[in-house]
Amino acid sequence: MTTVREGVDAVVVGGGIVGVSTALQLQRTGRSVMVIERGEVGDEASGHNGGMFSDDCMPVGTPDVIRSLPHLLRDPESPLVLRMRYLPRLAPWMIRFALNSRPSRVEAISTALYSLMSRGLDAFRPLVAGTEAEAILKNRGHLYAYRRRDALDPDSFDLRLRQRRGVTYEILDDTAMARLSPAFAGRFEVGIYFPKAHWTADPQAFTQTLLASFVANGGRFERAEVRGFDTSDGRVLQVRTDNGAVATGAVVIAAGPWSRGLLRRLGSDVPLDVERGYGADLPDPGFKIDVPIVLADVHSALTPHRTGFRLAGYDELASIAAPADMRLPQRLIRSAQKVFPELRADGAAFWMRRRPATPDSLPVIGRAPRFPNAYLAFGHGHKGLCMGAITGKLVQQLMDGEPTTVDVAPFRPTRFHVVAGL
Ligand SMILES: Cc1cc2nc3c(=O)[nH]c(=O)nc-3n(C[C@H](O)[C@H](O)[C@H](O)COP(=O)(O)OP(=O)(O)OC[C@H]3O[C@@H](n4cnc5c(N)ncnc54)[C@H](O)[C@@H]3O)c2cc1C
Repeated sequence: MTTVREGVDAVVVGGGIVGVSTALQLQRTGRSVMVIERGEVGDEASGHNGGMFSDDCMPVGTPDVIRSLPHLLRDPESPLVLRMRYLPRLAPWMIRFALNSRPSRVEAISTALYSLMSRGLDAFRPLVAGTEAEAILKNRGHLYAYRRRDALDPDSFDLRLRQRRGVTYEILDDTAMARLSPAFAGRFEVGIYFPKAHWTADPQAFTQTLLASFVANGGRFERAEVRGFDTSDGRVLQVRTDNGAVATGAVVIAAGPWSRGLLRRLGSDVPLDVERGYGADLPDPGFKIDVPIVLADVHSALTPHRTGFRLAGYDELASIAAPADMRLPQRLIRSAQKVFPELRADGAAFWMRRRPATPDSLPVIGRAPRFPNAYLAFGHGHKGLCMGAITGKLVQQLMDGEPTTVDVAPFRPTRFHVVAGL
C-alpha cells in the first residue's frame, strides 16, 4: 500500500535553482512547502554553469545565428554540436527555433526575456539576504572579449537589439580591459563590458544555501523521485514518488529538462528539449582573473570559481540521455589556451549538463492547461540561474491571484499551439 505523507500547501518538484527559488517565494507568503529532489540539490545545470547573473536580452536564435548555421554545422571547432542521429526527433523543435529567429519574433522575444532578466538579480536579493549565497555573489560585471577588432560590428543586429531594450554595456579597448583584470592585458582588441552583471563563485553552493535557508524557515525537503500525480476533478491531489505519496494543495513542476515528461503525465505537452553544455573545472589554472570573461572568438566562458576557474561552453543538440562526449571539454581547454597559453589544466574535472530549452528561448511559466492547481516553471535555457527568483515570484503571484510583476503572457504553456500550428 502506498504511504501518504501529511499534506502541504505546495509541492515543488525539482531542487535546481528554479525549484528552490520558487519554494522560497511560496514560503515567504506563509505556505507550507515541500521540495522533492531525486538527486543532490543543484547538482544538475543549476550547479554546473557559467555562474553569471546578467541583465542581457539576447535569445539563442537570431537572424545571425540562422545565417551562420551552415558554417557552424561544418566547422570542427564549432560551439554547436549536432548529433545527427538525433536530428529526426529534433526536427520539429528546429523548425520552431528557425521561425522564432526571424527579426520580428526576436524583437518580441527579447522584450519578454528582458522583462525577466532585468529583474533577475533584484528578485534574488530578499532570498539571499544575510546568507552565504549573498557572500558568494560578486558584482563586478562581465566581459565579452574579441581578439580582433573587426570581429565586433558595433552596428550589429545584436548590439542594436540590446540598445533598443536598454541593456547597459560599454565598448572597451585593451587598456580598459586590462583595468578590469591585469591578465586581460595585450590579448584582446575590443570587448563588450556589462557592468551591471553579477556572478557567483559557486552556483551549486548558491543553490544549496538557498535550500538550507528554506529548510531553516520550516520548509520540508524530500529526497525522492516523482513518478506521477493522483488527480480528481481537474485537480492534482497527490504527488506520487518512489517513496510514497504526498497530499498537496498545489504542485509546481520545476524539474528542468525532465519537466516535459512530468507534464505529459498531466495530459499536456510543450516542445521542451535540451541544449547540452560542457565544462571543465580547473583547480590550479596558473593565473588569476577578477571578472568572468566570455572568449567570444573561441566560444567559451571563463569564470573565477571558488576552487579555481570554471571553463564552460558549447551547445550540443543530442538526446537528454545520450552519453556525454568528454572530448568536448578537452576541446574547450585547447580553445581557451589559444587566448591564455599559460592556462593550466592539471587536475581538471570535466562535466556535461543539460540546459532545458524551448525553441523561443523563453521559459514556460504558468498553470498547466488541464490542472489549474499545477504550475509550470521550466525551460530557462541558457539563463536559468539568473531567472530563478523572478520565476518563483511570478509562480507565487499566480497562485495567490495577485497582479504579476511582469506580463506572463509570453511565457504561457499554451503559446506553442499557435506557432505555425505545430
Ligand atoms: C554550460 C552551461 C553554462 C550556463 N551558464 C549560465 C550562466 O552563466 N547564467 C545563467 O543564468 N544560466 C546559465 N546556464 C543555464 C542554467 O544553468 C539553467 O538554465 C538552470 O540551471 C536551469 O535550472 P532548473 O532548476 O530549471 O533545472 P535543473 O538545474 O536541471 O534542476 C532540475 C532538478 O529537477 C530534478 N528532477 C528532475 N526530475 C525529477 C523527478 N522526477 N523527481 C525529483 N526530482 C527531479 C533534477 O534532479 C534536478 O536537480 C548554463 C547552463 C550550462 C549547461
